[in-house]
Amino acid sequence: MYQFPEAMKKLIRDLSKLPSVGEKTATRLAYHIINNDRHLAESLSESLLDAIVKTTFCNKCFNLSDDVICPICKDETRDKSLLCVVEKPVDVIAFERMGEYKGMYHVLHGLWAPLKGLGPEGMKLKELFERIKKDKVKEVILATSSTVEGDATSLLIADRLKDMNIKATRLAQGMSKGAELEFADDVTLSRAFANRFDF
Ligand code: ZN
Repeated sequence: MYQFPEAMKKLIRDLSKLPSVGEKTATRLAYHIINNDRHLAESLSESLLDAIVKTTFCNKCFNLSDDVICPICKDETRDKSLLCVVEKPVDVIAFERMGEYKGMYHVLHGLWAPLKGLGPEGMKLKELFERIKKDKVKEVILATSSTVEGDATSLLIADRLKDMNIKATRLAQGMSKGAELEFADDVTLSRAFANRFDF
């Protein structure tokens, strides 16, 4: 039976390890890459390495950054008393795209999922509470997704904030239950943000 040459097979195997890429799509992508001029393959391999080597996490908010402190944390015009807590760096992009929010962010890098046996240890929680105290935050917007894990995480944080006497708000349920923040359109997100409610 005919099979692709070894190098092509390896490319397909590697591409299909990416999320949402099955063998069929991987084959189509690999075919596109080898059919294009050398430039695409060279640029692609350079971008892949650069992304790994040059991208780091901001020391303050844990968002993706190419410096120890990200441009949002460096921006003196932003309101430090307002802190939006999200699960993933891609959620910051969704919020920034909306264009209305001028506060700061904190990326948790995970959610509390007791039903899946995942405790809160992996999240950037200790750093969150330290920051809230240090930066004299007045309101924490809990913008985790409206999933079981997102709700559980928000409740966990809101409980601690109550003890600290800090106002905690949650995005309104404009987004359908189970919706991931990163997939919300700008209008829906904007409405959920404007109608955020107190815990
Ligand atoms: Zn930052």
